[in-house]
Amino acid sequence: KKLGYALVGLGRLSTGQLAPALQKTEHAKLAAVVSGTPSKREEWRKKYDLGEHVYSYEQFDRLSDDDAVDVIYIVLPNGLHAEYTIRGAETGKHVFCEKPMANTAEECRQMIAACEKGKVKLGIGYRCQFEPHHLRAMEVVRSGGVGELRGLGAGFGFKMPADADPDQKLHWRLNRKLAGGGPLMDVGIYALQFCRYMTGREPDSVTAQTTLTDPVKFRQVEETLGWTMTFPSVLGDDLPEPLRAQVTASCATTYNFSGFNQGEAFGPDGSVLLKPAYSYTGLEGFVKGEPMNLDTPDQFAIEIDAFSQSVKDNKPFKCPGEEGLRDLLAIEAIYKAAETGRRVDVAKV
Ligand code: NAD
Repeated sequence: KKLGYALVGLGRLSTGQLAPALQKTEHAKLAAVVSGTPSKREEWRKKYDLGEHVYSYEQFDRLSDDDAVDVIYIVLPNGLHAEYTIRGAETGKHVFCEKPMANTAEECRQMIAACEKGKVKLGIGYRCQFEPHHLRAMEVVRSGGVGELRGLGAGFGFKMPADADPDQKLHWRLNRKLAGGGPLMDVGIYALQFCRYMTGREPDSVTAQTTLTDPVKFRQVEETLGWTMTFPSVLGDDLPEPLRAQVTASCATTYNFSGFNQGEAFGPDGSVLLKPAYSYTGLEGFVKGEPMNLDTPDQFAIEIDAFSQSVKDNKPFKCPGEEGLRDLLAIEAIYKAAETGRRVDVAKV
């Protein structure tokens, strides 16, 4: 049986990626939607033959009585993830939540606790962790394919439209309360993830700084942010402590220019490069300069199927709430480092 998913928030991601992906999934299908816009509810009811399984936000808690729904998928602005994940867990349905998991690490902890209390699974939407180029890169690096990992370089950003304003609903990404921060929360998190899963370790400490060219548009969140992280060495655990090289990561994220979309891992024997690294389609990967020649499948369909299988089999999911929490702990350290100009240790789960 395919699990029924309720999409909560019918914006660009739900419309352009998730609903189409749910037509391709082997273990999941679109069963219900939650939207605040009556015309959207009607449009989706007709297009996807949803019958009565169409809800407003006021009716959200009624999902508990909808037998067609197994998983509630939160696709709202970041600042609403915690509230709807917690309310979702209280309906007794499993919850899948888009990245970033929430605005703060504290909210992440509350979401994890709510899902534990409700005895439901919680998954976070880190599609790249299921994508073949990223999996290949991870495998090469972790097996010592470039020698002992020494450096990482990763960045993701895009240009915000000229007329974007934090007070417009459409541009919630510029609004601190709704977005939790700027490009680091939205797209820089992919670069952070890249560094975390290439090393398979957590960062020890970070430094960071921001730059600003448009103080009006970016009056609530950062515009461009560069940061560094140190990770414990990946290979060479058998070496005495002083000889174990740390891994240095240099990362950046921006809403000020487009085309910045890459991740590279360096060792003494060469590098593994993904560029573009985080797009929906057309990813390219290179191992020591040689192209990987892999297809980019529908990343959303793969991750939804993986979560559905873990629900069906009651097995651990690769990206549970703790994975989202670890990113928020690093993000909080990065913001603190940018604010204070100091090196900041990253708190551990
Ligand atoms: P969007 O602005 O297109 O959609 C957000 C939806 O939330 C809209 O339909 C909006 O009407 C609704 N909404 C409900 N309450 C709102 C409020 N108070 N203010 C503003 N909007 C409100 O955004 P999106 O691009 O679909 O992003 C949604 C979530 O998905 C975000 O958390 C984002 O980080 C994540 N996302 C993930 C990926 C990915 O590749 N995994 C890609 C894009 C977005």
